[in-house]
Parts: sequence; structure tokens; C-alpha cells
Amino acid sequence: MTKSLMTPEQLLGLNQDHLLCINDNIELIGQKFQCHHEVLVPLARLIRQSEQDGIPLRIISSYRSFEQQLAIWNKKFYQEVELNLRDGSKVNSQDLDEAARVKAILHYSALPGTSRHHWGTDFDVFDASHIDQGLTVELTEQEFEEQGPCGNLNFWLQDILTDYQFFKPYFKDQGGIACEPWHISYQPIATAALADYPVALLKHTLESTDIGGKNIIIPMLNDIVEQYVMNICNPDQQG
Ligand SMILES: [Zn+2]
Repeated sequence: MTKSLMTPEQLLGLNQDHLLCINDNIELIGQKFQCHHEVLVPLARLIRQSEQDGIPLRIISSYRSFEQQLAIWNKKFYQEVELNLRDGSKVNSQDLDEAARVKAILHYSALPGTSRHHWGTDFDVFDASHIDQGLTVELTEQEFEEQGPCGNLNFWLQDILTDYQFFKPYFKDQGGIACEPWHISYQPIATAALADYPVALLKHTLESTDIGGKNIIIPMLNDIVEQYVMNICNPDQQG
């Protein structure tokens, strides 16, 4: 198996030495972002192909650090934020008790240290042709349905992703992270990263941060990793 080429700290978003910073000189990508140094060329190839096929793929989100993910988590945990529940209903985060709040946040947002965005191998993408028309993309499932502004992109990705060694880890909801048709992952590095995933260091790291819901999270950490990190759709489960 390929090595992930990442240290345990890098796998948790605590160190950035494996990343390349792409600035806005990169014509094809068009914005500043960071990715794993082995992923830039395959990503550029995928984007170039999308241009040639008339569906300009762009990146809305790439690398995120542990600290950035912690800020996302604590905002949802401590502030009045609308959360989507698994049954499709919405609720104010502060109306849930702490255990229910942790569970609701986990469905859509990774626990800090468990996001695949820490690796620089994973990207949230959209179809830029609709942005030119003044449309903002919010990354909802509806946008990626057949008639939605990213429907064509979704269909195109389905056809081409494996040729470029990318796949969708959240192709469908398997009881972990919700379905995210916009999230793509570079398989050779990401699969190795998952195999190297450092649960003990994650526990140690979370114990020493000010994460909301810590008393609930730490005792169930192994289950969280199983349900939300290991439980992905593999490249051969994309149909
Ligand atoms: Zn994502």
C-alpha cells in the first residue's frame, strides 16, 4: 500500500509541512488554497479535464487545520446555530442537551482532528459556470440534483472521478457523515492516511483542548472514529 506521506500530527491537522500553498497565480484554480504536495498535479489534471468538457470545476474548500475545525465545532456547540437533524428537521443547537448536540453536529461537521480536510487530499467542489451568473453555492444536496446548478458537475464527476483516482467518501449517508456529493478525495494518499489514522494522539489532543462537549466525546471517541471516520463509501461503492 502507498504510504500516506504524513506524520500523525499532519493527519490530525496539527502540522502543515506536507502542504503546498497555491496562490491566485494558478489560472485554472483561481483562488488561494492549500493541498497535499502529491495531490496538486492530479487535481490540476481533473480541473483541466473539467474545463475541456465545459463544466469548470472549482474548489470552495480544501485544507482546514485542527484549529479551524475546532472553531467551527465550538461555534455550533456554544452559540445559537441552526442544525439540520438526520430526519430533515432543523433545530437551534442550544435547544438540544449536550449529548444530542454532539450527535447532531457530528452528522455534518467533523470532530476536530477527524476531518479529511486536514490531509490536503480532500476538496469541496462546485460548478463555476453558475457563479458567473451571480449564483452562490451553499453546498446542499439539492444543488447537486439533476436540475440543480451543480447537477451537470455531479453527473460528470460520476463518470470521470475514478479515471483520475478521486472518489466520493460521502457518496451516500451510511449512518456517519451525511451525503456530500461535492466532497471529493484523492484515493492513493487518502486511503493510506485512513489506514495510518492515529486515534491515541487524537484522544490526547482533544483532552488538552477547550472543545465543547469534551466529557461526552472522550468516553465515546473510539465509536466516533468508527462511525464517522472509518465509515466511508469506498471507491468501489460509488454506483
Ligand atoms: Zn468536505
